[in-house]
Parts: sequence; C-alpha cells; structure tokens
Amino acid sequence: MSLNELTISALRRGLLAGDHSAQEIITQTLDAIDAATSLNALLDVASRDDLLEQARAVDAALARGEDLAPLAGIPIVIKDNICQRGTRTTAGSRILEGFVSPYDATVVERLRDAGALIVGKANLDEFAMGSSNEHSAFGPVLNPHDHARIPGGSSGGSAAAVAANLCAASLGSDTGGSIRQPAAHCGVVGLKPTYGRVSRFGLIAFASSLDQIGPLTRSVEDAALMLGVLAGHDQRDSTSATIDVPDFTDALDAGVEGLRVGVPAEYFVEEGADPRVLARARQIIDALRAAGAEIVELSLPHTEYAVATYYLIATAEASSNLARFDGVRYGHRTQDPQDLEELYEKSRAEGFGPEVQRRIMLGTFVLSAGFYDAYYLKAQKVRTLIRRDFEQAFADVDVIISPTTPTPPFELGARQDDPLQMYLEDIYTISCNLAGLPGISVPAGSIDGLPVGVQLMAAPFDESTLLRAARAVELATGGLS
Ligand code: GLN
Repeated sequence: MSLNELTISALRRGLLAGDHSAQEIITQTLDAIDAATSLNALLDVASRDDLLEQARAVDAALARGEDLAPLAGIPIVIKDNICQRGTRTTAGSRILEGFVSPYDATVVERLRDAGALIVGKANLDEFAMGSSNEHSAFGPVLNPHDHARIPGGSSGGSAAAVAANLCAASLGSDTGGSIRQPAAHCGVVGLKPTYGRVSRFGLIAFASSLDQIGPLTRSVEDAALMLGVLAGHDQRDSTSATIDVPDFTDALDAGVEGLRVGVPAEYFVEEGADPRVLARARQIIDALRAAGAEIVELSLPHTEYAVATYYLIATAEASSNLARFDGVRYGHRTQDPQDLEELYEKSRAEGFGPEVQRRIMLGTFVLSAGFYDAYYLKAQKVRTLIRRDFEQAFADVDVIISPTTPTPPFELGARQDDPLQMYLEDIYTISCNLAGLPGISVPAGSIDGLPVGVQLMAAPFDESTLLRAARAVELATGGLS
C-alpha cells in the first residue's frame, strides 16, 4: 500500500516506528493529487515547498525524540466553505470569487495545533446546497469509483479526496446530510457530530441551526481521532457546547454485547428506495445481532415530514445568512451599476447559481409576512415533534440504524432537472440535523461496484456509543483498521 492510502492511525504508527517519514507521506500524497486532477475534487492545493517544510519539521521533531502531536504530518483536506487564513475560500460560488480569508476557522486552528498538514480545499455544492456536487460553480466532482456518477454532496470533494487517496482525512459540513451522504457514495466514513460539539466559527453559514462540521475518514478509529481534535467549547461560537470532550477512542473496541440498536420502520419503507440498499442494511443488523446487540424495532412517526420541514427551515435561514453577499463587502461586484439597488441586484444575480437563488427565494417567501405562520412557524413546531420522536426512542435504545441513502450513487445529470428528486436523496439524513443528533455513515460494501453506506445515530453528545457501534459495523463489513 502506498502511504497516501493509509489510515491516520497507520501513518502515525509508521512515523513512530520509523517505517516512513512525514516527507515521504506528503510527497506521495501530492503526487496522487497531481495524478487525479480530472476528479475535480480539490479547488486549491497548498504549495509543495511549504508542505515539505512543515513535514521536515515533523521529521526533525521525531528525530529529537519529541512527543508527536496527534495529527503530526497527517495530510488533511478542508471543505472550501471553511476559512483558512491567506487562502481563497469560495464556498463553491462565483459570488466569493477572489475572496481570501483573513482568518482561520477554529477547526483549522485546531488541526494545525494538532500538527496536521492542510493540503488543500475541497470542491462542494455552492454554499453547501446540494446532494450531488453538481451545483458547484467550479464544475462537478466525479465519483472515484465510477467517473460517470456523482460523489454525493455537498461535501463531495471532501469525500472523493479521501476515497481517491488525496489525503488521509478531510473536513466536511453537514446541514442535512452533507458529510454522511457523500461518505456513503464514496465508500468512506463520515461523521456529523452533535450540534454544538464542534465550533462553527469560520464556517460559511448555510442554515445556522443545522450546520455542523465533521470529519470524513478511512476508518471509524480515524473519525474518533479527528473528533477528539476538533471538538470542544469555543468562545467565538455561542452555540458551541461547554460539555467535556472524552477520549472518543476509549470505548471503540468495547463491542456491541448488550447494546440496544433501534430499527425505525419508517427508514425501511420500500417506496423510493433501492431494495438492495435496504437489504444491505438488514444484513448489517443481522451481523450486529450475531455480535450480541439487542435489536429493537421502533417507530419515528414524524419522519415523513422531515424533508418538507428541513426545506422550509434551511431555506429560511439561508435567505437570511446569504443577505450579507451584497457585492459591497465580499467577492463579486457587477460592472457599472446605475445605483445601489442595481449593484445589489446584479451582483447577486450574477454571483449566485440557480440552486442558491431558488433557496433564497423559497426562504424569503416562507419568512414573509402572511406566510410566516403557515410555513416557517409550522415547520418549527414539526421540528419539535421530530426531536421528541428521537427523545422517546433514545429512552429505550442506544443507537438507531438505517441506510444512509435510498440508492447507490446516481449518474451525473440524472436528477439535475428535478430538484424534488434531488431533495429526496437526503430522506434518511435530514432528521438527525433537525434533532441536533450525532450521526455517522459507515461503508457497507458495494452494490454492482458502487459503494453504499449504513447510518447510525445516537443521543446528543453520545458520540462515544455512536463510534463504538460504528466500529462494530466496520468489523462486520471487514473495514480497515
Ligand atoms: N443536500 C441537502 C441540501 O441540499 C443537505 C446539504 C447539507 O447538508 N449541507 O440542503
């Protein structure tokens, strides 16, 4: 195996044992990046000289016998809606063309403090709105397993970068499934932490009550390692929780003996789903049962309203968050406007792509006087009902299992003219955000050569149990360690 194919934990073991150097890791990684430009996974790559210098510093520290920081020398890719000082941050949009971030997001600071080498910025659907990466202003990302298919979205570049061995791990953001869904489609692990677990400071906001940053990795252990680095209170994000950060790797191998695993009937309905995907999730449930888990069939009765609720709340928040892109403060500005109003109008019309415009219009509509009560307020009430479904479920079970997506990755272009069909792609992932829960997608093998994933969800801030169950799924499907 080349070094760029290894997990974080294997790279670290090798560094400590002297089997390879940080310079070798970064060199092989950058060579892989150079050979994979046709995937369009990365929008920006850091300079080879800078990265080699950072890697040399890691090797020198090792030679001096210093303690190795948790991610020392590990190549990481960051979704391009996360600010990194001195680099272009586009959020996949023309409206941010030329914008260079003047500061680091908290997660970027934390990665750097942990010794990570940030190798580049990942392509994404514009402002993280999408499920296929086809809404990026910089062109779609190709699925590394089949170049005619979508990698998922919106963190499609982040998922493809891990799957194509362009980094050991990446960061994504997940508002309605954008870490878990592309992870499933690309055959990697994707973890959305509990809302509030990881600081959102420096994440370009889409829907602030739903957005959360998390890692995409090759293994569940790596997801636990990454979460340990990313998690924790941040004064600069008032929604970040002041809750303790445990060692998420502690209970990883505790097994699932006695663990209560909930199977929600609403997530296994045949309509709209590929029966092979449902069957695969059922196989994994059987494997967990065989490993000693107790399987509990349950109901989350408000599931059918989740997609509609999400598309009211997320668009409402987006219309407000995206008001700041006015052609004055950042990025694209129209040429020769007649007056201020035309400057706003034309800058926004030229800068935002069609999907973002659709969402802004929808969101503005549901917040407008006369429709606020009927749509936005109603959606907030249904959100509470969805959260209560989960509260009740987690009074009885430790984790909930389902497929991550209703189908394997579809062909590029297949759903581009049908937004509703595209939105249904998130049917299993959206509720987790509405309820603020942690969720993870773990590879569950492939169907006709295309990767599929299985999703686990847990009670708020119980990522330890989530990861423990995820590790058992990984073992059941023969994943990497
Ligand atoms: N696909 C969903 C959407 O388009 C979720 C996106 C996300 O999680 N950022 O809104």
